[in-house]
Amino acid sequence: MIVGGGAAGLELAAKLGKRFGRKHHDIILVERNRTHIWKPLLHEVATGALDANIDEVGYRAHCHRFGYRFFNGTLEGVDSAAREIVIAPLIDEDGREIIARHRIRYDYLVLAYGSVTNDFGTPGVQENCIFLDSRKQADRFRDKLLDHCLRVSRALTDDPGADAHVRISIVGAGATGVELSAELFNAAEALAYYGLEVFDASRLQVTLIEAGPRILPALPERLAADAHAELEKLGVRILTGTAVTEVTRDAMVLANGEQIASDLEVWAAGVKAAPIAGQLGELETARGGQIVVRPTLQSTVDDRVFAMGDCALCILPGNERPVPPRAQAAHQMAATVYENLARLMSSRQPVDFVYRDKGSLVSLSRYSTVGNLMGSLVGGAMAVEGRIARFVYASLYRMHLLAIHGWIKGSALIVVGHVNRIVRPRLKLH
Ligand SMILES: Cc1cc2nc3c(=O)[nH]c(=O)nc-3n(C[C@H](O)[C@H](O)[C@H](O)COP(=O)(O)OP(=O)(O)OC[C@H]3O[C@@H](n4cnc5c(N)ncnc54)[C@H](O)[C@@H]3O)c2cc1C
Repeated sequence: MIVGGGAAGLELAAKLGKRFGRKHHDIILVERNRTHIWKPLLHEVATGALDANIDEVGYRAHCHRFGYRFFNGTLEGVDSAAREIVIAPLIDEDGREIIARHRIRYDYLVLAYGSVTNDFGTPGVQENCIFLDSRKQADRFRDKLLDHCLRVSRALTDDPGADAHVRISIVGAGATGVELSAELFNAAEALAYYGLEVFDASRLQVTLIEAGPRILPALPERLAADAHAELEKLGVRILTGTAVTEVTRDAMVLANGEQIASDLEVWAAGVKAAPIAGQLGELETARGGQIVVRPTLQSTVDDRVFAMGDCALCILPGNERPVPPRAQAAHQMAATVYENLARLMSSRQPVDFVYRDKGSLVSLSRYSTVGNLMGSLVGGAMAVEGRIARFVYASLYRMHLLAIHGWIKGSALIVVGHVNRIVRPRLKLH
């Protein structure tokens, strides 16, 4: 039983279903959504640069093809003593119950329910900010963005000299905040082609606010400085060493008392485990809510329960810091859990997870891509920018496509993706 069909869970379900499903084993994927979209694409969905309807995967069709069963539901608790999970009642749009709260029994459980954005308890964030955690939030951001652009376009049509702007504040200058900032300028330029003749990038006021001393702390200083310069060239106002103490409906309140007037407010400052902690029975959880796992990715208290991806806290021997919550870690963990489940089922010892950091890349939309590659192929760490970086950045998603669709369909979808970039509009505007 796998809970969470994201970057890690769906790859595992496909592999397990293909090898063990339909034969002697019942592979079940429990997921609260009906479709999957790879999370690192959400900032592109938010600006309309990517049409999620094309890239998303329907779980029902996928499970039919790969030989696992799909249960649409939300995990509410784990009862490891009884080897059961508790699924919350499934409610329809009108508030009517479709399926009552129920329990499902498992022999082996893999928890892969990801993370949510961490608001660090900052007042007003939950009520006023958009988090790029889900397709729903990304769609909400795009709708609001288009409404504001339309409003400004109309104001300028009425009065070409009007001081009309779309003001967007983004908190957190990690990869998500930086990529979203750049993508917004790409979208603003494209809007001029699609009927908003009087709108262009000069009408965007984007402020990127970071509490730390610099943007992109995961990247080497030189690359972060290059990305900083590129963003400023686009017109992004970057505030580092600046804490947000409160978010109101139309302003970010800074620790120094300054208020940044904002039409759209995005919070992208770190992640914490999805809020199931507390209902996880005997499973050990860390302060951030993640499930603590051993190097084999089994929970510390139950050999039959694994956790992987963003919801797991895994500190490997010889390391002080946990494996980072990233798509490449999720991808690699899915492969280890697959291997270990196969070993347990044939009474062999599970192996330890080995994290191979392939580096970090940050896409500044079509303007640039920066990052560092790691590994023996490049002889340690190598800073990359431009076309090579762009190619490697896209490779991570290609690997996910191959893992969840297999080589033939995955390769075909990669080709279709290229064709779509040529034949389809540059922006999704609905
Ligand atoms: C905008 C954005 C950009 C990113 N860019 C990058 C990048 O460039 N490179 C990189 O390495 N990483 C990036 N990341 C991080 C990366 O997306 C995550 O590390 C990765 O998706 C984690 O995989 P996962 O399987 O653990 O979780 P997810 O992919 O989030 O999947 C979790 C799944 O569990 C489901 N779920 C949650 N709660 C429940 C529940 N209670 N019951 C049932 N189902 C549940 C969710 O619906 C989801 O389908 C980015 C993240 C974001 C938000």
